[in-house]
Amino acid sequence: MKNLILLGPPGSGKGTQAERITAKYGIPAISTGDIFRKNIADGTELGKKAKAYMDKGELVPDELVVGLVADRLSEDDTKGGYLLDGFPRTIVQADALERVLTERGERIDGVIYINTPRDELIRRISGRRVCEVCGKTYNTGSFAPKVAGVCDHCDGKIVQRNDDTEATAKNRVDVYNEQTMPLVDYYRGKGLLSEFDGMIPVGDIFTGIEKLLGE
Ligand code: ADP
Ligand code: ZN
Repeated sequence: MKNLILLGPPGSGKGTQAERITAKYGIPAISTGDIFRKNIADGTELGKKAKAYMDKGELVPDELVVGLVADRLSEDDTKGGYLLDGFPRTIVQADALERVLTERGERIDGVIYINTPRDELIRRISGRRVCEVCGKTYNTGSFAPKVAGVCDHCDGKIVQRNDDTEATAKNRVDVYNEQTMPLVDYYRGKGLLSEFDGMIPVGDIFTGIEKLLGE
């Protein structure tokens, strides 16, 4: 398995598993959310357009996403495989991805799906905090930093993402159910889907992923 997709609702722990997969298997994680946040921080045109949607918890329009990912996938570090985190998020994006890959004689080898119930998602997202400097995530409930407000790793300031408020979180989960959930059947139908229970401990989910990807 080489080219992977990480699929699951916001708050399912995709980012955490992506970090572990990257560390163990040495493939880059490509997070469209991170790319947009970087563009917002850098004040680019794309960032300005994306921010309006992200702050409301809506999806950025497909035409702004697909080209971006196609470009990213033509960079050299993806030659040995990659993990797409947060893309595709609609059937239109999934079809576009397939076209781009087919043209290049490539394909998706597997989809890791982390299934998590709605109530838990909203609880986790509203409690999520992130280091402004290194991006490490914390949670007010389950995973607080040693010193309040300060990153354990880099002493950076810990903040709440703009779109992690409870109201926006609810909208993001609804948007996920409507627009992204259909991808579960889409990839199951292609025989690519491996499903994991997002309620079990992070380490146990990763153990399952290791079984799938090999030691
Ligand atoms: P989460 O998985 O916690 O929602 P992400 O960082 O993946 O966080 O995404 C944050 C926001 O970025 C989304 O709510 C959406 O507005 C935008 N976004 C990210 N990826 C996509 C995508 N593939 N298509 C459309 N919008 C996206
Ligand atoms: Zn940090």
